[in-house]
Amino acid sequence: KAKKQLGNHYVIYEPGLKVDVSDGLLMEAELRQALRRNELQLLYQPRVDSQTNRVSSVEGLLRWHHPQRGLLMPADFIPLAERTNLIVPIGYWVINQACHDIDLLGKWGIGDLHVAINLSFQQFKDAKLLATVSHIIKKHQVRPHLLEFELTETAMLQEQADVAAKMKALQQLGINFALDDFGTGFSSFSHIQGLPINTIKIDRSFVKNMLINRGDQVIVGAIIELAHNLSLTVVAEGVETCAQAEWLKMAGCDEMQGFLLSQPLNVEELCQRLVEEQAVRAY
Ligand code: C2E
Ligand code: MG
Ligand code: MG
Ligand code: MG
Repeated sequence: KAKKQLGNHYVIYEPGLKVDVSDGLLMEAELRQALRRNELQLLYQPRVDSQTNRVSSVEGLLRWHHPQRGLLMPADFIPLAERTNLIVPIGYWVINQACHDIDLLGKWGIGDLHVAINLSFQQFKDAKLLATVSHIIKKHQVRPHLLEFELTETAMLQEQADVAAKMKALQQLGINFALDDFGTGFSSFSHIQGLPINTIKIDRSFVKNMLINRGDQVIVGAIIELAHNLSLTVVAEGVETCAQAEWLKMAGCDEMQGFLLSQPLNVEELCQRLVEEQAVRAY
């Protein structure tokens, strides 16, 4: 048996047996400290308007620069954060960072960029959500309509009445909502009727197969048409090829996001890209 020091207490494990558990505990302790140690970073992936090719908004994507493990992606730590409810303080850090950066972009003369961030269901269970979000918005003097919260269908449909009420209260503040990863859940528009949603994001698995699988192509076309009939903006995720972008444009998809258009950028890179774009426009 080995003893592993973890803070001021010991975790005893037998090799190969509880390794997962102790690793989880260690990660949890480290994630708790990541905020204080300033190890989190919010990158921004541009969303491009299909008609004008201009960046209309960006999505904030979280990264954890772990001192030993290196760069960690959301898949490496968001599930842990959700299980331990650490996603609540982390989520507030994300909202605060996004508002800080909106303010920063404003100082660079970029005052009309919409910033989307991802919210987990657990964050909607926090009683202080509304008060904290409105406090952060006021602190940075951000126009709330520049903020968009992305939620998945599964998150929206858990404890539906409660989530719906909180979404409506946030909408009253001016915040917009997007339905993320559309097509992977129940994919029923009737479920989301009555929720204050402005935007639908088509999951990248459909975009990926759309030009090789007739069924996926029909689904993407149908989502775009139905969304438009409900006056929703449609965004395609995971656009990687020109052929995909061309087809989506032809099908009327409003905005595109994916490696073809841009990788997720840090805030300095984002500023640079937007300033260049403005210069091109002015010219
Ligand atoms: P998502 O919200 O669906 O975000 C899109 C994901 O697709 C991002 O992965 C992005 O880097 C990736 N992506 C974008 N374009 C392409 C492409 O052309 N090809 C491919 N293969 N991938 C592309 P990432 O950054 O690893 O984030 C994964 C998921 O983690 C996000 O999925 C979101 O659900 C979650 N997440 C990220 N940041 C946060 C956060 O701050 N809070 C919460 N609660 N969840 C977050
Ligand atoms: Mg998202
Ligand atoms: Mg998505
Ligand atoms: Mg996704």
